[in-house]
Amino acid sequence: MITLALSKGRIFEETLPLLAAAGIEVLEDPEKSRKLILPTNRDDVRVVLVRATDVPTYVEHGGADLGVAGKDVLIEHGGDNLYQPLDLNIAKCRMSVAVRHDFDYEAAVRQGSRIRVATKYTTIARQHFADKGVHVDLIKLYGSMELAPLTGLADAIVDLVSTGSTLKANKLVEVEHIMDISSRLVVNQAALKLKREPLRAMIEAFQTAIPA
Ligand code: ATP
Ligand code: MG
Repeated sequence: MITLALSKGRIFEETLPLLAAAGIEVLEDPEKSRKLILPTNRDDVRVVLVRATDVPTYVEHGGADLGVAGKDVLIEHGGDNLYQPLDLNIAKCRMSVAVRHDFDYEAAVRQGSRIRVATKYTTIARQHFADKGVHVDLIKLYGSMELAPLTGLADAIVDLVSTGSTLKANKLVEVEHIMDISSRLVVNQAALKLKREPLRAMIEAFQTAIPA
């Protein structure tokens, strides 16, 4: 049996065409079913639904043989023990710094002020500001980062942006692009040896269907 870990939503949806290229069809819709283990048209392949941030943990510890996870999630997790053969070029967005429209970020940086930064992505944020030589107080949040500058909890946020409409709706402006984000295929190291042939075939099929 090969177990693939996916998160519901965009990663699940955008992985379906890659699975199709490998001849794999998921037989249930996660938005309609309450099942966490979904069967496929292949008796030897199943999909498990986990939180996006839990995908690397499942794959690293063998709860799944492979999975799809965002670069953001992989950096925050560490990802050292995972084999990462493919950038799937799906779930694309960017990691950015955003501030309230009336906060002068450039001036704060220039003056060397301590900046309070709220984020779910503390590893990425810490590295980014360390590289710039900017002193920050990081405030760890688990969601709705946009609220932090509006309530005075923080001066800035580090968050994922795609269209920018959420920032705009909350009167925030993007002031720095930290990195481009897409999702990668991650594979358990032991499974790669034990289930070598079927996994290699899946990886090769996925590769042919990566969107441009
Ligand atoms: P949850 O919504 O369960 O709290 P999550 O926000 O991490 O978890 P998703 O929103 O499904 O889960 O995001 C999964 C991955 O998709 C993220 O890790 C990131 O790589 C990418 N992603 C997040 N937001 C966007 C976006 N707006 N557009 C494109 N890709 C995104
Ligand atoms: Mg989300």
